[in-house]
Amino acid sequence: MNLSEVQLDTTQLVGNVRALRTLVAPGVDVIAVVKGNAYGHGLVEVVRALEQDVDGFQVDDIEELRVIRAVSSKRTLVLGYVAKANIDEVVELGAELAVYDVERLQFFAEAGARHGVRPKVHLKIDALLGRQGVVPGDLAQVVDALRTHPGIEVVAAYAHFANIEDTTDLGHAYDQIEVFEAALTVLRSRWPGIGRHLSATSGLMTVEKDNDLIRLGLGIYGMYPSTSLARRHQDLGIKPVLRWVSHLAQVKTLPARHPVGYGLTFITPREMRIGIVPQGYADGYDRGLSNSGEVLVHGCRCAVLGRVAMNMFAIDLSSVPDAAVEDEVVLLGSQGEEAITAEEISSRLGTINYEVTSRLSSLLPRS
Ligand SMILES: *Cc1c(COP(=O)(O)O)cnc(C)c1O
Repeated sequence: MNLSEVQLDTTQLVGNVRALRTLVAPGVDVIAVVKGNAYGHGLVEVVRALEQDVDGFQVDDIEELRVIRAVSSKRTLVLGYVAKANIDEVVELGAELAVYDVERLQFFAEAGARHGVRPKVHLKIDALLGRQGVVPGDLAQVVDALRTHPGIEVVAAYAHFANIEDTTDLGHAYDQIEVFEAALTVLRSRWPGIGRHLSATSGLMTVEKDNDLIRLGLGIYGMYPSTSLARRHQDLGIKPVLRWVSHLAQVKTLPARHPVGYGLTFITPREMRIGIVPQGYADGYDRGLSNSGEVLVHGCRCAVLGRVAMNMFAIDLSSVPDAAVEDEVVLLGSQGEEAITAEEISSRLGTINYEVTSRLSSLLPRS
């Protein structure tokens, strides 16, 4: 038994991909986004589970690519910045790379020539996101550079939506599509066969059209990008696949008016049965859940008492009098009929479900 671990329901994970595919047009490639340790779910475990059911993987950096290559040779997009010192290695590992300036193109072309390969690139257009990418005004320059590097294969142009999940007003998304399509027209006059991709999970659930690849993260893990999209697509049948479990490290009764934890932020109002959970903010249990979070023991909700520390916190066991040392505690996921969702935690913390799962420590065993 692992004292604490992250458990993955791989059958449901595959089920989520299949459910999402019902929204994807035939012939469109589904790329599973597994950056951030597969949103905290465990990179190796997720790649192994999904290999047969997706067309490829997407990560942010070379560290993640190396981990994937140890278990899979499947098509992998590395869309974050690759340090100059690592370009030879990513090219040798056969990654498909993001380009958005002339200098990157030059480096990729030179590395390709050194290794006798034709690096595949995806040209990132900054279509009103204001993050990584070529702004339309600089496109001509990049097109010129591409022409001088025939050793590079331009797989696709792509962009990323800025404001779909936080709003029901898709106006900005449609403006982005317009900017992207204008850039694509310029590129296709030179390379007619160039592919295109725009959508992540929220795009697929709203405006997806005419693309030939789709980059799916959150939905694969069974979560929705917003409550409005959850409502709109509740029939899809995607479900969370992660359980974060630990086991009680101590169970005891404290007398009335006894402090609990650092800062004396909780004082027992009466004699209380408490349990110690051997997890803390170092494991990804946010300190903002001090005196606010809930966990599950014997299928009952138990409140977090006092401050969450680096490696432990206390919970109220008043409603579970027969709880004993080493009984299972669920910090995220279901136990019996009850469930603690990433959305419940993110709303307590004023953040998003993405952050809750992706901050789970990569040191926790996955099973
Ligand atoms: C993270 C990311 C995705 C996946 O987004 P989800 O909302 O999790 O589906 C897709 N594309 C890019 C460029 C990303 O950074």
